[in-house]
Amino acid sequence: MTSKERGILIVLSGPSGVGKGTVCKALRGYAPELVYSVSATTRTPRPGEIEGVNYFFKTREQFKRLVDTDQMLEYAEYVGNRYGTPRQFVEETLNEGKDIILEIEVQGALMVKQRFPEGVFIFLLPPSLDELESRIVGRGTETEESIQSRMSVAMDEFRLMDYYDYAIVNDQVEKACSRIQSIIVAEHCRKDKV
Ligand code: 5GP
Repeated sequence: MTSKERGILIVLSGPSGVGKGTVCKALRGYAPELVYSVSATTRTPRPGEIEGVNYFFKTREQFKRLVDTDQMLEYAEYVGNRYGTPRQFVEETLNEGKDIILEIEVQGALMVKQRFPEGVFIFLLPPSLDELESRIVGRGTETEESIQSRMSVAMDEFRLMDYYDYAIVNDQVEKACSRIQSIIVAEHCRKDKV
């Protein structure tokens, strides 16, 4: 038995439109014991978003400084904005023996995989490609060109699923949450963890 078990780093990722944000938000209700990483971004806050709760909102210069001084565990450019995970908070949480979850896009997830290969990588899938397209269309914010380009990015991202440990179909949010919780329980029961 190890004296103090380190927390588990969980990465929830998948293509745009698959419902990562919705699942992660619902998971807060089901799994309040998990720690939820707050990302930094250069995008402007949406109505109702709070600094330090939804994101740490940064200018491009501030974000660049965080990357240059190795304060980001991972980062990516997504639809014209930069997103990244502050490294220190993740490391402190794990050292305290708590589990932490990152809800991030695929490029960033692959960067975490390089730095934290022992992390648990969960890929969220849409029930079908038609469903993915209708979710992207349903946002009502995308042009036809943007829908097609997001679908083509999604197809490339599906090919990266091999790098992940688990795949969950997001057909129902509650089901997806319960599967994530089951994965975390199972990971804590791994022989090398007891
Ligand atoms: P939104 O602007 O809708 O909040 O997020 C856009 C995309 O950025 C989503 O796919 C979300 O998962 C991703 N994202 C949010 N935070 C991070 C982060 O820290 N790193 C990376 N790589 N992606 C992130």
